[in-house]
Amino acid sequence: KREWQESIIVDELTGAFNRKHFNQTMKQLISDFKRTGRVFSLALMDLDHFKRVNDLYGHLVGDEVLQTFADIVRRSIRVEDTFCRFGGEEFALFLPNTDVASAAVVIERIQEAFAALPFRAKNERFQVTFSGGITEVTEAEQQADKLVEQADQALYASKHAGRNQTTLYSDHLLAIK
Ligand code: C2E
Ligand code: C2E
Repeated sequence: KREWQESIIVDELTGAFNRKHFNQTMKQLISDFKRTGRVFSLALMDLDHFKRVNDLYGHLVGDEVLQTFADIVRRSIRVEDTFCRFGGEEFALFLPNTDVASAAVVIERIQEAFAALPFRAKNERFQVTFSGGITEVTEAEQQADKLVEQADQALYASKHAGRNQTTLYSDHLLAIK
C-alpha cells in the first residue's frame, strides 16, 4: 500500500517528488507561514543546455544526467527539505526555516558538486551545470503562483547572465531597479 501511495507523488525516473507533491508542500508551507510566521525558501534549478546533451549523446544519457543530478541534490539537503521534479530538466527545492541567503548557500554547494562531476558518453567526457533562482515567502507575497513566478524570474536572470549561477529574487529586483 505504501509503495502504491508513494508512486502517486514520486517521479519515476529521478525519484524526486512530482508536481502534485510540490503543490501540496507549497500549500502546507504557506499555511504554516500564515499561522506561525515560519519562513521558507523556494529554489528552482534548471539544467543548462540539457537539450544539447540529449541531441549529442541520446536520451538514455540524458536520463542518466537527470538521475545523477537528483542523487547529488538528495545527498546535499536536509530531511526537512523537499526536492521535486517540476518537469523536463527543471527541479524545485523547498527549504523550510531557511531564508534566501541561506538557501543560496545550499544551491551553490550543489552547483559546485554537480559541475565537478565528469559524465562519459561516446568516448567523450563532459560536464553539466545548472542555473538557480531563489525566492522567500514574505508578508507581502504568500501566493503560490507568485512565489513560483519570482523564483522563475530569478532563474531567468541566472540564465541570462551566463548560466551556472544562482540569483536571489531580491538581487534580481535590485538589478532591474
Ligand atoms: P553552512 O554549510 O555554510 O550552511 C550555512 C547555512 O545555510 C546553514 O546555517 C543553513 O541556514 C543553510 N543551509 C545549509 N545547508 C542547508 C540544507 O541542506 N538545507 C537547509 N534547509 N539549509 C541549509 P545553520 O543551519 O546555522 O548551519 C551552520 C553550519 O553548521 C553549516 O554551515 C554547516 O557547517 C553546519 N551544519 C549544520 N547542519 C549540518 C548538517 O546536517 N551536515 C553538515 N555537514 N553540516 C551541517
Ligand atoms: P540532515 O539534516 O538530513 O542532512 C543531510 C545531509 O545534507 C547532510 O549529511 C549534509 O550532506 C547536507 N547538509 C544539511 N545541512 C547542511 C549544512 O548546513 N551545511 C552543509 N555543508 N551540508 C548540509 P551529513 O553531513 O552526513 O549529516 C547527516 C545528519 O547528521 C544530518 O541530516 C543531521 O541530522 C545530522 N547533522 C550533521 N551535522 C549536523 C549539525 O551541524 N547540526 C545538526 N543539528 N545536525 C547535524
